[in-house]
Amino acid sequence: MPSGPDLRATGTSLPPEFLGSLQAMCAPEDLSLDAASLQVYGYDNSRRSVPAQAVVFARSATQVAALVNLCRQFRVPLVARGRGTNTTGATVPVQGGVVLAFERMNRIIEVNPDDRLAVVEPGVLNGTLQTALRPFGLMWAPDPTSAPFASIGGNLACNAGGPRAVKYGSCRDNVLAVQAVDGRGRVLRLGTRTTKGSTGYDLMRVLIGSEGTLALITEATLKLVPLPAGRALLRAVYDDVESAAKAVARLMCAPLVPAALEFMDAQAIRLARDVGGAELEDAGALLMIEVDGEGEALAGAVATLGALARGPGLKSLDEARSPEQIEALWRARRALSPALRTLAPKKINEDVVVPVSRLPELVRQAEAWALESGFPIVCFGHAGNGNLHVNLLIDPDQPEQAARAAVVLDALFRKVIALGGTLSGEHGIGLDKRDFLPLAFDADTLAVMYEMKDWLDPSGILNPAKVLPLRS
Ligand SMILES: Cc1cc2nc3c(=O)[nH]c(=O)nc-3n(C[C@H](O)[C@H](O)[C@H](O)COP(=O)(O)OP(=O)(O)OC[C@H]3O[C@@H](n4cnc5c(N)ncnc54)[C@H](O)[C@@H]3O)c2cc1C
Repeated sequence: MPSGPDLRATGTSLPPEFLGSLQAMCAPEDLSLDAASLQVYGYDNSRRSVPAQAVVFARSATQVAALVNLCRQFRVPLVARGRGTNTTGATVPVQGGVVLAFERMNRIIEVNPDDRLAVVEPGVLNGTLQTALRPFGLMWAPDPTSAPFASIGGNLACNAGGPRAVKYGSCRDNVLAVQAVDGRGRVLRLGTRTTKGSTGYDLMRVLIGSEGTLALITEATLKLVPLPAGRALLRAVYDDVESAAKAVARLMCAPLVPAALEFMDAQAIRLARDVGGAELEDAGALLMIEVDGEGEALAGAVATLGALARGPGLKSLDEARSPEQIEALWRARRALSPALRTLAPKKINEDVVVPVSRLPELVRQAEAWALESGFPIVCFGHAGNGNLHVNLLIDPDQPEQAARAAVVLDALFRKVIALGGTLSGEHGIGLDKRDFLPLAFDADTLAVMYEMKDWLDPSGILNPAKVLPLRS
């Protein structure tokens, strides 16, 4: 049975010798030791908080390598931080130490339309990059809803994704190369500027999604794709989840891949209407089916996917034609996540994944858990990938409710594994799901993961106590 996360607030001051070297290494404006900064940089979107013992603002790979060597010498934890928007406590310095903030390494170094790539520092915001790419008619495909305020480094470290992942993939599918500093202070250059490569071991893909536990990303070469010339959006409303899930299976079997295929359950539909402002009637389930392309091809794609969306249980099928109509629907979809906070003070937002065919079983089970436990559970997400956001909405001041939520979470993770799925599709593991990792991997596979951690970070200084369960 997994134990709870160990939130050991150290409160200890850093060794004076360490502090002296840190001060000698950093420009005064790149080192914060005041109580307010230590508090702010010890907090993230998981709403957990443990004060840092020092905050360093990264400036270059050389400086990061020197900092790793210093931390290694004194066995001081080093926690990378982009913008702290992760949901799993991944940037909270639970064992104290230095928080390394990448927000000032924020240069777009190169945009190369001929080779369809961009080279960026890790602190560039996803949204800033998309704005810079627009004049070139290009985009970087990963589109987390947090794009305006999440960093590329954080995106890569979590293997973030969004609605477009169903067609274009997540971060791992959209990066050509990274420069990163490992836990021994070595500057690694992994990957290639080319779109094909079969040279040596693919360590780059190991680092993407490793949540700052294996290496610190100091530069990334991103694969770009053309901005779609046009978009169309179908809204398909169904009597029940089963009918919607059958439509998802039909749509995903088509030779034409939708650019997004999003699902909302009955509660999410009500929230999208009441809080998000969408014009929607009560229904069992809703699909948003987006296609991109141009001219006749786009019209043909709409007709093909519209035909596949039709079937038993369909209540209505509408096309949002104008950019304004399309944006209004996406606005309501994006409003869902913050709107959940209107239902209860605390939301536990999981992002489990199951094979598409097993989605109805998972949603039905979530409805049953909501009835049994007495708190709302709202499901929506990226149906084309089987990636469902299961939101448990509780009042943490009611200890009995919090205890029931823990039981439901345990049952949820066991259920998704039993259905052939996995614990996280895009948010990562961090602190919150760390102790559930043995559900997803057998002992031999986990042992290799620990060996990989020991090999790249032998002193265990990089984001300790995250991703892998603690060793006894
Ligand atoms: C409203 C909202 C909507 C969201 N929607 C989505 C969504 O649609 N899809 C999705 O995938 N996520 C989503 N998220 C979660 C979050 O935004 C993403 O995980 C994002 O990628 C985190 O970026 P960040 O810059 O905030 O990273 P942080 O939260 O600062 O860090 C995340 C992890 O990356 C590590 N890290 C950061 N920078 C580096 C680096 N340079 N080198 C090595 N490790 C590093 C950290 O140590 C930590 O483990 C959402 C969050 C919010 C608040």
